[in-house]
Amino acid sequence: MIKEITAKTLISRVSGIDSVFGLDYGFNLYRGCQHRCIYCDSRSLCYEIENFDGDVLIKVNAIELLREELPRKRKKGIIGTGSMNDPYMPLEEQTNLTRRALETIAAYGFGVHVVTKSELVLRDIDILQKISRVSAAVSLTITTADDELSKIVEPGAPPSSSRFRAMKRLSEAGIETRLALMPALPFIEDSWDNVSAIIEQAHACGVQTVIPWFGMSMRNRQRDYFYARLDESFPGLRKRYETTYGEAYACPSPHSKDLYRRTHQLCAKLGIVTQVKPLLAPTAEELPLFD
Ligand code: SF4
Repeated sequence: MIKEITAKTLISRVSGIDSVFGLDYGFNLYRGCQHRCIYCDSRSLCYEIENFDGDVLIKVNAIELLREELPRKRKKGIIGTGSMNDPYMPLEEQTNLTRRALETIAAYGFGVHVVTKSELVLRDIDILQKISRVSAAVSLTITTADDELSKIVEPGAPPSSSRFRAMKRLSEAGIETRLALMPALPFIEDSWDNVSAIIEQAHACGVQTVIPWFGMSMRNRQRDYFYARLDESFPGLRKRYETTYGEAYACPSPHSKDLYRRTHQLCAKLGIVTQVKPLLAPTAEELPLFD
């Protein structure tokens, strides 16, 4: 069900995986996500989204809050969206909330970083180009080069081929375009054949940066949901997960070391960087990721 809510605040300082993207601030316009990826961490109980797979809540006062909060920030910086839900889920086509948020960010002179699995982002190329004068980057998340597999693991999202098309159009439009190669589901997506196919296609689409993470996270309600989907689509695989990871939160691929090594080699050969520089602070240290 789609519901409207009034949020108290919108912008937060970033931490954890978001800081990997070189962000200063983050915001979410929705709660819940129509893309229904079987591995989604936002299902975890700690986020207190009661019916993650049934409801999407729209923060109807989000633009008002952005207008109040952005001018109060002492430091201009990169503001990111897309970590807790996809800002270009199908609903966005009607609400235009992400588009209006980008217009507001452009008006206040901040940079932006968008993470998405949807080519609906192409609708907003004009505003992203405007924000590019400060800093704009779009990361397309792709976990498999195989459309059929993407329809199983990300059933509500456009298939991988559509995300590659979006990458190409964005980079042709001069927007910095990145590949978020994460998660790589152990025993399903963590083969070198899959990883190298994704990187090579992304390179052909003009991607300049790859942010890899070979593994996944799992906890409470999210784990239960993921295992139930494994039982439906990959019978028998749950047992392998349980034996390998038990109750662990961080679940790296057993091949992760080899995958990082080969990813660095391939990206170096293709001229792709595998770390994100803080975009508005060129003198700051680069983030030494995944070495
Ligand atoms: S697109 Fe992102 S937020 Fe939405 S369900 Fe998939 S992983 Fe979760």
